[in-house]
Amino acid sequence: MRLLFLLLAILPLALAAPKSAVGRYAVRYDNFKIYSLFIENEDQMEELKKISQEISVHFLNELSGPDNSYNIIVGPLLQKYVESRLEYLEIVFKVIVDDLQKLLDKSAVDKDTEMEWESYHTLDTIYDWVDKECAAHDYLECKVIGQSYEGRDIKSIRLSKREGNKAILLEGNIHAMEWISSATVTFLLNQLINSEDPEMQRLSEEYDWIVVPMVNPDGFVYTHEVERLWRKNRRPNGATNSSGLCYGIDMNRNFDYHWGGAGWNIDEPCDHWFGGDEPNTEIEIIALQSFVSSFDDGYIRSYMAFHAYGQYVLLPYGHSNTEFPPNYEQMKRIAAAFSDAASEPYGSAFTYGASGLLNYVVSGAAKDWAYGVKNIPFTCTVELRDKGTFGFFLPSNQITEVGVEVTAGLKGLVNKAAEEGIFD
Ligand SMILES: [Zn+2]
Repeated sequence: MRLLFLLLAILPLALAAPKSAVGRYAVRYDNFKIYSLFIENEDQMEELKKISQEISVHFLNELSGPDNSYNIIVGPLLQKYVESRLEYLEIVFKVIVDDLQKLLDKSAVDKDTEMEWESYHTLDTIYDWVDKECAAHDYLECKVIGQSYEGRDIKSIRLSKREGNKAILLEGNIHAMEWISSATVTFLLNQLINSEDPEMQRLSEEYDWIVVPMVNPDGFVYTHEVERLWRKNRRPNGATNSSGLCYGIDMNRNFDYHWGGAGWNIDEPCDHWFGGDEPNTEIEIIALQSFVSSFDDGYIRSYMAFHAYGQYVLLPYGHSNTEFPPNYEQMKRIAAAFSDAASEPYGSAFTYGASGLLNYVVSGAAKDWAYGVKNIPFTCTVELRDKGTFGFFLPSNQITEVGVEVTAGLKGLVNKAAEEGIFD
């Protein structure tokens, strides 16, 4: 009897688990539209917040203040209602994606392909490529720096061809849905290993490179198998809402530097931007921090975190728009060199400056911790393409172009940083 009860109790779980695990129940977005809204004033801001609480609309950007654009995803049943409400509130809007599912289908992932940079890949394909490169080159040192909440490896690669080099760290995919991040970081690593461009070969010779292509493997797998729009990791965070347990922490809000300061919304654990109840709560972040701290002080001279989207080079600080780092002007000159060089191949413009000024004031990001706690003299968040046309869902046919422009930008950045004495 007891056994029967137990079987009945676990049967639905047993049936449900493999289905979601292979993606048969993946969330679909047929006929969902993405709207871009421009919020002019505080009144409109308040009304938008009300809408976000009342109906099931997926906000793609964190709500900060007026004089900003926000993108929202609305399902077919609510579109008429939302449009008429926006019109009534005199909020200017336009439809930027007419059918989100069609856009997502353009970048469909094939599980059985080899690594290349014309499509997005699964975690297994990315890690298989990392392992293969590691096995093929003895100047690569590959290490698992820790496990995610669900027990997946967080891998790192250190490229070092010469004793005494200083290092540049490239961080990828801390936000699960930003697939272009790990695609770009692996593109750069591949250039450093396999490019025949003499300038790339020189950068690979004269600097050490530390790459963590996938800080959030659980979230990344979840975006492939269940919910393409996921941002956080997958640890249940203790809160619940109408749909049950709330999962995940925004790991780029969890670093311990001026954590929980201005601009912070700590009370919304079910939001996509929840930074945790306190700093350093996430096992993935602790692994990354320990890894960075395992190197001698002064060895890592630049820390670059890759994100989507908006085409920015965001510098410290995030927690303030009135306080600036001691070498802020120097960091701006280095960021300018990235921006100039990155625009050359295809004309993509990258705006640079303190994130608290350009974006909004928010703390707990990797670049601020790397600068403020680890004293790394040039740190940044690079927000990759585009400026909002496809946003988080950049089609896979742009991956190579992004890789090419960021490679160009990186050359400009490293050479300028060297000229500025960052590696001395
Ligand atoms: Zn991000």
